[in-house]
Amino acid sequence: AANRKFHPDDTVVEVCGRKIGGGNFQVIAGPCSVESKEQIKEVARDVQASGAGLLRGGAYKPRTSPYAFQGLRAEGIEFLLDAKKETGMPIVTEIMSAAHIELFRDVDIIQVGARNMQNFELLKALGTLNKPILLKRGLANTIEEFLMSAEYIMAGGNENIILCERGIRTFETATRNTLDISAIPLLKQLSHLPVVVDPSHAAGLTSLVEPLSKAAIAAGADGLIIEVHNDPKHALSDGAQSLTPQQFGEVMDSVKRMVEFE
Ligand code: PEP
Ligand code: MN
Repeated sequence: AANRKFHPDDTVVEVCGRKIGGGNFQVIAGPCSVESKEQIKEVARDVQASGAGLLRGGAYKPRTSPYAFQGLRAEGIEFLLDAKKETGMPIVTEIMSAAHIELFRDVDIIQVGARNMQNFELLKALGTLNKPILLKRGLANTIEEFLMSAEYIMAGGNENIILCERGIRTFETATRNTLDISAIPLLKQLSHLPVVVDPSHAAGLTSLVEPLSKAAIAAGADGLIIEVHNDPKHALSDGAQSLTPQQFGEVMDSVKRMVEFE
């Protein structure tokens, strides 16, 4: 169960020697979407040089418009695996359908996006796997609903879950979402699962990624997931919130002043 009452010790999720939770902090970084074999390798090398421990990149993309770029799909996963082979970085990528599970067999951490947080059949299917799941909070879901979704995965036997606060819908439109800072300490009090924060989707703006990252660390986050693109202006998705590799390096410098890395 996700409830701390039944499990007082922090869960530590470990993947390829990287630990998240229980005092172990990690940064996951990479583009919103995998766009080409060269692009994902280049971003992987750059974020690794700045201290990211894991590589993110979307292959199946949940886009608001059906006419927007939908991701490279299975080929995107292949390109992530190439980048892993070259850099040794474990990879995190989003699944949108249980029908694709077999394609994710070599993915290190499977992401469930905000839009699928309550896709209960998908959660049940992921509960049968022996693989870490990064579960993002839904756009308009309560903490209780979020923890119940984690419970769906755990009920199937998979207890390797990382919770991700990525901002929620509020009346405010100046930011893409509103980062719920309270969610971080509250989730950590209620549950033993590691909590990471996604300042990129919370803010929607590059200039807010650094201050929100610092706020997340101050509030007790176990890690960050940050969008980084080689050429944000021409990104096929989420360019406005994506950092250049150089900007990411600067954010990492201030992160390293606040938290110990392995
Ligand atoms: C993403 O990580 O690119 C993404 C689609 O995030 P979210 O599900 O939080 O909107
Ligand atoms: Mn994105």
